[in-house]
Amino acid sequence: MESILKNNRQWVKEQRAADPEFFNRLADGQQPKYLFIGCSDSRVPASAITGTGPGEMFVHRNIANMVVHTDFNMLSVLQYAVEVLGVQDVIVCGHYGCGGVAAAASNKQYGLIDGWLTNIRDVIRVHETEFMSVEDDELRLRRLVELNVIEQVRNLAKTSIIQNARKGAKPPRLHGLVYDIKEGLLSDLKVEENMIAEFDHIYSTNAQQYAAKVLEEETNNTKLTDDKPKLTDQKA
Ligand SMILES: [Zn+2]
Repeated sequence: MESILKNNRQWVKEQRAADPEFFNRLADGQQPKYLFIGCSDSRVPASAITGTGPGEMFVHRNIANMVVHTDFNMLSVLQYAVEVLGVQDVIVCGHYGCGGVAAAASNKQYGLIDGWLTNIRDVIRVHETEFMSVEDDELRLRRLVELNVIEQVRNLAKTSIIQNARKGAKPPRLHGLVYDIKEGLLSDLKVEENMIAEFDHIYSTNAQQYAAKVLEEETNNTKLTDDKPKLTDQKA
């Protein structure tokens, strides 16, 4: 622990020497352009592998870089990044050699994490033919890492947060990247628009329809309330 504090003091010294206003500028607020959803794996540090510094990237990490629709932590990060910070790019970044993905591909129990890994097993089910057609074990897992990233990008597109943002003037672009720990290189999986739009007929929702329905219900409720005696009509 001591080394962490020592390193921190050294880092502050170096930053101040290079740019005396560095910390004052950061203290004024953040305007990051990117939201990075990555794996918790210690070998995949978001800032280092993307060459971004403090203030440039909003980050959410969990085991196997998942976008799970019941995860309020991830959804809160996504909503804040898109609707308040106005990030321009949302990146899902997986990595080869991902322990979470490998665990999901095995048929073992690991405890609490099993429920989380089920979300990756769903990816295997959807792509089972392709997954099983790769004979080499390592290559099959590498492909699963890629398929998982693609499905998590699709999961982003299924959220009402992204769907509503896409109706606005500056919707964030969605990307799927994979990091190769052995090489240190990032590659873009080119998750094209058509791969996201492919299931629009199932997943896309219309906020305006919903808003109109809520408004109609509210108007009806107000009418009902109007017929009822008001508090001010009642005698004390
Ligand atoms: Zn991982």
